[in-house]
Amino acid sequence: MKGKRYNRIKEEWDITSGDFFVIGYRTLMLSTKTFVRIQKEAEKILGDGAAVIFYEAGKKAVLVSVKRIEEEWKSEGEELIRSLEEFYAEVGFGKFIIGEAKVEGGEELMIKVENSFIAKEYGKSDVPVCHFLRGYCAGIGEALTNQEMDAEEVKCVACGDNHCEFVVKMVE
Ligand SMILES: [Zn+2]
Repeated sequence: MKGKRYNRIKEEWDITSGDFFVIGYRTLMLSTKTFVRIQKEAEKILGDGAAVIFYEAGKKAVLVSVKRIEEEWKSEGEELIRSLEEFYAEVGFGKFIIGEAKVEGGEELMIKVENSFIAKEYGKSDVPVCHFLRGYCAGIGEALTNQEMDAEEVKCVACGDNHCEFVVKMVE
């Protein structure tokens, strides 16, 4: 295990009732194998529609956690970006490297994810597979710019790239 914890995430267990909480949210410890198995089963049944479900679920989840981080850690701007990177690293999503939002005829943001838990588990693919994290990136973009944002995965480890990369753009 490399690096120390940031020690801002608090876990609570109640082994008598079977509850596990992370920063107050009931949480599951789910192996990445199981997560990817759910995604692959959804893809078998739903085809391309599965990507939309994982994307939307990720986007909605991140908006809640960003609010929490803003309120409890009093992070904003550059500090909020670093807090998010630390949070996702600590919960095992991979290493997020969030760029600055740029305005060039519309808000745009680049997010790099090294060691994506989805891509690492998924195996080889002709198309990017990190739809859940793509939703996270869109949600991060929305939280940072207060605009409606969409994200596209332009590089993915499952496609043979060194890392996953997401371009987050304002919805036109
Ligand atoms: Zn990926």
